[in-house]
Amino acid sequence: MQTWKVGDITITRIVEYEGPMPGGGEGSMVEAAYPDAVKQIDWLRPHWATDDGMIIAAIHALLIETPSTRIVVDTCVGNGKIRPGTFFDNLQTPFLDHMKDVGWHPDSVDIVLCTHLHVDHVGWNTMKVGDEWVPTFPNARYLMGEREYEHWEAEGDAAQAQIMADSVAPIFDAGLAVLVPMDYQVTDGVRLVPTPGHTPGHVSVEIISKGETAVITGDLTHHPCQLAHPEWSSGFDTDQKQADATRAAFFRQYAGSPTLIMGTHWATPTAGHIIHDGNAYRLKA
Ligand SMILES: [Zn+2]
Repeated sequence: MQTWKVGDITITRIVEYEGPMPGGGEGSMVEAAYPDAVKQIDWLRPHWATDDGMIIAAIHALLIETPSTRIVVDTCVGNGKIRPGTFFDNLQTPFLDHMKDVGWHPDSVDIVLCTHLHVDHVGWNTMKVGDEWVPTFPNARYLMGEREYEHWEAEGDAAQAQIMADSVAPIFDAGLAVLVPMDYQVTDGVRLVPTPGHTPGHVSVEIISKGETAVITGDLTHHPCQLAHPEWSSGFDTDQKQADATRAAFFRQYAGSPTLIMGTHWATPTAGHIIHDGNAYRLKA
């Protein structure tokens, strides 16, 4: 179990999945991350790439504990969700048990925060009880970007409609959903930062306490290989051009800074500092 301290704030990682993923090819997580290209980036091994050039990625939630508030950032894929023909179909993992093991009973969560409304960020918003999807965290307010919600309500395909039906609509039905602007101050020391492109309402999460700072990226980047090649787009981006600009600006802003960067799909060790490396960057864990 990984934990980090940022001033008075503790961040704990709960992993749902971690392992090699196929990279390279249109529609893949990082479209240019073919094995031969990945093998050229030697600092990716052993944490973020295999010896034969497969990229290693993760799906995890980050639990933020401030002195006053417990926040779950992104709720992974969830159990028993029907996602036909995908890796995400009908997962059964001990995710909730792992949360309880670190003292986070679902009842104790104050806020659930979705950086965006994709399948691997909203799943544990709900769990199945009998035939119904009910909020997993019954005492939480669930924060979702207003822009993000409106986009997927209007433009989602059938697969996204299914995600909204089983992982978002029940939150509204229970009266727990709160639509927020993209620069929303969540609580003392935790605020949203607009990072659109991956999705129209995508946000990252900035954490500041006692002069220390961290940022949870969300999916503005999927894999550390994009530090070596900021121009490497994700096949999951709604607007690749905007996502490329957002990612480039983010890397530029934080390169050489003491801010701890926590990648929402970055495999163990998950967090590090962005440093300059020639014309691009690398991640120093
Ligand atoms: Zn994702």
